[in-house]
Amino acid sequence: MRIGIGYDIHPLKSGRKLILGGIEIPHGAGLDGHSDADVLTHAICDALLGAAGEGDIGMHFPASDYRYKDIASLQLLEQVISLVIRKGGRLVNLDAVINAESPRLGPHLAAMKDALAKTMGVEASRINLKVKSGEGQGMVGRQEAMTAHAVCLIEGI
Ligand code: MG
Repeated sequence: MRIGIGYDIHPLKSGRKLILGGIEIPHGAGLDGHSDADVLTHAICDALLGAAGEGDIGMHFPASDYRYKDIASLQLLEQVISLVIRKGGRLVNLDAVINAESPRLGPHLAAMKDALAKTMGVEASRINLKVKSGEGQGMVGRQEAMTAHAVCLIEGI
């Protein structure tokens, strides 16, 4: 068994699409970044890469590479899970927290879970997602940014 941890942060910008866990969520602002800035999927990629002993997302998909401009992060996750599987790994479980003040994300968690599970080729029951508000505090509370933490367990490597 191997454990991995992932963390990410992206600033909120009006006029951008808000994509979390591969799902577009209606909101007045979205996360800004080189790709679709899906903060949750990026944290998950880093957790998987960490468990596989394969560095981090920036090493595999550098922001300086135009191929990753505006790319759907689920495509990055697909490549990451392929790498894990090639090394003989299998996802045991994944747990993640999205830190966001607004909008309410609870109603979207099931769709995110399904999209992530489908992309990773696992049962949705292996994935757990949570949301925490910023309680009005800090950059999350001021709706300047969203962050995500993820941990995963992999067996077979
Ligand atoms: Mg990121």
